Amino acid sequence: MSEINAAELRAKAEVATPGPWIVQGHEIVSRADVPSTSLQWPWVADVDGPFEDAAFIAAANPLVVIALLDDRDRLAGDLRTARRQRDEESEAKSGNIRALNRALTERDAALGHVEAALELHQPCLGCAVAHCFECGTDYPCRTAKALGLTPEQKGARDEPAS
Ligand SMILES: [Zn+2]
Ligand SMILES: [Zn+2]
Repeated sequence: MSEINAAELRAKAEVATPGPWIVQGHEIVSRADVPSTSLQWPWVADVDGPFEDAAFIAAANPLVVIALLDDRDRLAGDLRTARRQRDEESEAKSGNIRALNRALTERDAALGHVEAALELHQPCLGCAVAHCFECGTDYPCRTAKALGLTPEQKGARDEPAS
């Protein structure tokens, strides 16, 4: 598609006889309300060619061309706004994804510390009184308690009433 020189087309439309135009016999005439002091004549052009061509020329009058160019400008503006919004949204989304990844990395590191602590603070079950390998105190030690570990309490659960 050939390049449309919108500015040149608009400049030409603005100085041409104002639309709307109609075909009248072998003439194209303007139906615009032209002030009586205006130098512009309602007559636009003589046409010798096919009626369809004359009809097209009349249809593509300055009024219509300017309206089309206005539409084009408005749509281009809408497109720019939509693109800017899309870019801002995708930027916000990647920001959120980066923050989530950071949080996941931090959580993984924290979980690693917890697992390392859990491995250290295991009960020694070989002795008469279970004690923590790491601390030497009765199990669960303070660290095991802090990590939410409690000794297995067999039979402590209430038997369901029969
Ligand atoms: Zn022991
Ligand atoms: Zn311990």
